[in-house]
Amino acid sequence: MATALHSPSTNRLTPNKGYVGRFAPSPSGHLHFGSLVTALGSFLQAKSQNGQWLLRIEDIDPPREVAGATDSILNCLEAHHLFWDGEVIYQSDRSELYNQKIQYLASQGLTYHCRCTRKQLAIVPQNQLCDCADQNLSIANSAIRFKHHDVQKGFNDNLLGRVNFNTQHIPAQFAIKRKDQLFAYQLAVVVDDIQQGITEVARGADLIDATLFQLALYQAFDTPAPQFLHFPVVVTAPGKKLSKQNHAVPVNNLEARENLINAIEFLGLSPSIQLKKGSVADILEWAIQVWNVNAVAAKTECIDNRIGQSDSI
Ligand code: GLU
Repeated sequence: MATALHSPSTNRLTPNKGYVGRFAPSPSGHLHFGSLVTALGSFLQAKSQNGQWLLRIEDIDPPREVAGATDSILNCLEAHHLFWDGEVIYQSDRSELYNQKIQYLASQGLTYHCRCTRKQLAIVPQNQLCDCADQNLSIANSAIRFKHHDVQKGFNDNLLGRVNFNTQHIPAQFAIKRKDQLFAYQLAVVVDDIQQGITEVARGADLIDATLFQLALYQAFDTPAPQFLHFPVVVTAPGKKLSKQNHAVPVNNLEARENLINAIEFLGLSPSIQLKKGSVADILEWAIQVWNVNAVAAKTECIDNRIGQSDSI
């Protein structure tokens, strides 16, 4: 968890019945241009509607964490004047809440303990649970699996329109707590989005498939799902996305203005030559005024040629 205090730039959180959005990075690396695009898009979506933009650090997977990444993410957002509302939420602080929600699902008969390996699960016939489901295993050395009985067919995305899932190979269960006792992303993200009152989940299109599992959890919690909006993922060539895992170049905070202009243009806005010479604050203020999500390419990925990627760092 980060130790740095970033309160000077934190906006006060006010009770709000309107739009509540969020940016929810995992500290598995520094922000790259693609993550800046997502942060900016979700920020503009919230701020153009006088809404709140919350920041949640999804630090529930310590083995995948990169030392210093959380502070680097907060610094990067601040350098680009992407100031969040309220305090930063850290998922690592919320184990009690996640355990309570798992208990709730268990009380509804929707979970079971499972000791299968990935390999064993891979050969379980379609639409069936593994044998662990009938064995009433103790929690020791077990994952907790959610019985994924009510598979959703698709959802309406606020940018992409109707998205239909390929439901042919959907497992009949998925982990909500892993064997190593770490909480699964699908559980934590839904619990937090509900608890934080998120009205629209605006994030990268690489998470479209995750939406299927998340919708099942909203259903299980008997809570209406928020709206969803998936921005195109930045790729350097078809299918080659910038990602923390493939060593995308970290955003250089010293070039905040240029980065913002690039991200704004990627999102379909056309700043004037004069504005391009303005301050970060001026550029953001303009972008909030003119923001129109329909100007964003309604695609799951977009090539950005200006952005280099180094496999060597
Ligand atoms: N923590 C996820 C990531 O960094 C994003 C989760 C979400 O926006 O739902 O990829």
